[in-house]
Amino acid sequence: MNKTIGIFGGGQLGRMMAQAALPLNIQCSFFEAEKDCPAAILGPVFSSKDQQGLQDFIASADVFSLEFENTPVADVDVLTQTKTLHPPGLALATAQNRLAEKSLFDELGIPVAPYRAVDSLDSLKQAVTELGLPIVLKTVTGGYDGKGQFVLRSEDQIDTAWAELGPAKSLIAESFVKFSREVSIIAVRGQDGDVKTWALAENHHHNGILSHSIVPAPNSTDLQPVAQDYITRLLNHLNYVGVLTLELFVTEQGLYANEMACRVHNSGHWSIEGAICSQFENHIRAVAGLPLGATDVVRPTVMINIIGQHPKSEDVLALKGAHLHLYNKSERAGRKLGHITLMPNNSDELTVLCRQLAQILPVPLALTTDMNL
Ligand code: AMP
Repeated sequence: MNKTIGIFGGGQLGRMMAQAALPLNIQCSFFEAEKDCPAAILGPVFSSKDQQGLQDFIASADVFSLEFENTPVADVDVLTQTKTLHPPGLALATAQNRLAEKSLFDELGIPVAPYRAVDSLDSLKQAVTELGLPIVLKTVTGGYDGKGQFVLRSEDQIDTAWAELGPAKSLIAESFVKFSREVSIIAVRGQDGDVKTWALAENHHHNGILSHSIVPAPNSTDLQPVAQDYITRLLNHLNYVGVLTLELFVTEQGLYANEMACRVHNSGHWSIEGAICSQFENHIRAVAGLPLGATDVVRPTVMINIIGQHPKSEDVLALKGAHLHLYNKSERAGRKLGHITLMPNNSDELTVLCRQLAQILPVPLALTTDMNL
């Protein structure tokens, strides 16, 4: 077997997918605006800036997948006239629309915060009356990493919130969830319907961007089967092939779903070293129609994002057991440039490593030195 997989997007996720594909003799190609994207070193890049680029990209591979969650559904429609995309276009379109996504969660019995569709100032006022405050107002399409959002805490903010997000025309108002922490579950479904799930990741954010993930999420033994059940419902309902991620809030009433991502996820990067088979390898296996690998945790793992500025590689690699992944990106505030994987033996060792890491990273992260495994 010598398949080629075409990937919409050529960022770090595509780069790590292609890295996982190499040992299986699977070649990847990419559809991306930037010729020198992070994935470019691993396969040909077809320009997403012109129509011929799409035709050439479609001709370049046997089967297709994506790493870019805003992949235009119109491009997918052209592709699927002649070739197959995993995951299915319906899953992608649903994840790109927060209302469609929430209504799918409802339909499948996956708990979500109460929400209302908002398309006018009056409907916003109505939502505030019905849901109470605080609420999180979000654009239905296009938002990411907390962008396109407004947290409404008092009624006198209604006009400001509407002035800021109203021009987007289609909004969703969600009750503010009083969560104790945020977790994500990642699972993969093969072409034969086999489903495998990784351990829950506990995710910590800084300025709306993922800062670090701890896996398995501490004290998550009771949560794991529930999250696993929710994501399996989604995978089976969507007849999904590939990796799917579900972001969840942990509350006193149990887990609430926030959103899903139809792709490998930043909170699953730990699995490259921390699991028997990584999210990237299993995604490639699923898309290529191969048997899935075991997802067991080899060892508790902490994944820390490198954001904005690079640390010195030699400093990171001098840390006991640390792995460094760089994405070949130039420095810019808020940009994900790479990640570090730590696999400490126990909480004490983790505390020491975190303290050392805090001195090495040029941009301070929300990395506390009292993380528990
Ligand atoms: P999102 O773009 O939906 O992933 O939201 C970004 C972040 O905003 C999440 O990671 C949460 O920290 C926060 N957030 C989103 N929705 C809610 C909500 N309904 N209640 C409380 N916090 C939220």
